[in-house]
Amino acid sequence: MPTLTGLDPEVALHLLQQAGHGGLPGEPFSGEWLQALIDGLVDLSSRDPLTGLANRRSFELALAREIDRVARSGEPVLLLALDIDHFKRVNDTHGHAAGDVVLRAVGRALGETVRPMDLVARVGGEEFSILLPNCPAAFGPQVAERIRERVARRPVDIGAGGSVAVSVSIGGAFAPQWVRTTPRLWLDRADLQLYRAKHEGRNRCCLEPAAVPLVSAEEKSLLFASSSFQDFA
Ligand code: GH3
Ligand code: MG
Ligand code: MG
Repeated sequence: MPTLTGLDPEVALHLLQQAGHGGLPGEPFSGEWLQALIDGLVDLSSRDPLTGLANRRSFELALAREIDRVARSGEPVLLLALDIDHFKRVNDTHGHAAGDVVLRAVGRALGETVRPMDLVARVGGEEFSILLPNCPAAFGPQVAERIRERVARRPVDIGAGGSVAVSVSIGGAFAPQWVRTTPRLWLDRADLQLYRAKHEGRNRCCLEPAAVPLVSAEEKSLLFASSSFQDFA
């Protein structure tokens, strides 16, 4: 019989049940059952429970994988950082439960507006990120604008006949091509553009100019790190 060293299956099962996970297939403690238990735990650790989107942890892992890929291929990859505008007001005016409804609706709207290959994550309270592989620089502003417009166009139904108008501010940055960045540095760049969008009035998109990507001093130093060259050997 397969065993799980260091993991109590009963505790794991309890965690899954608490998260609203359905029953597991097969006889308890059978191979099939344990595999489903592990799959359930992996899913639990990588998803945001409120929206069902990827959580920050799995998003950052995906970013790291994407950085490896883009450093080899030079493919244009866009990272968007989104933040709901004046979300505190939604909670203050309509209550926290209505705020949660808005978060779920925005998460769904984002998922519906991007391609299946794009990864949408809820990375904080009212903050989302989207990773868009193979996104030519010329399309970046259009893609971001389409997302912003989709959220702003449809007020969210919060029940009892009420609805809330929602908008998002969006910042975006392309991965520096042929240069190995880090998830943190790339996120910082997108965040910088997000702050600009907030500062310029919200409900707008600001993308780092892609034609002349700003390569930070830290990224330049990574270019000469030995690992960058080993990849081409
Ligand atoms: P800004 O336009 O500058 O982004 O303003 P804001 O009000 O959106 O930003 P602020 O950071 O002041 O408020 C974010 C709010 O998000 C505060 C917090 O209570 C709320 N929030 C965070 N997580 C959740 C959640 O899971 N559910 C609900 N309902 N609210 C949340
Ligand atoms: Mg915020
Ligand atoms: Mg906000």
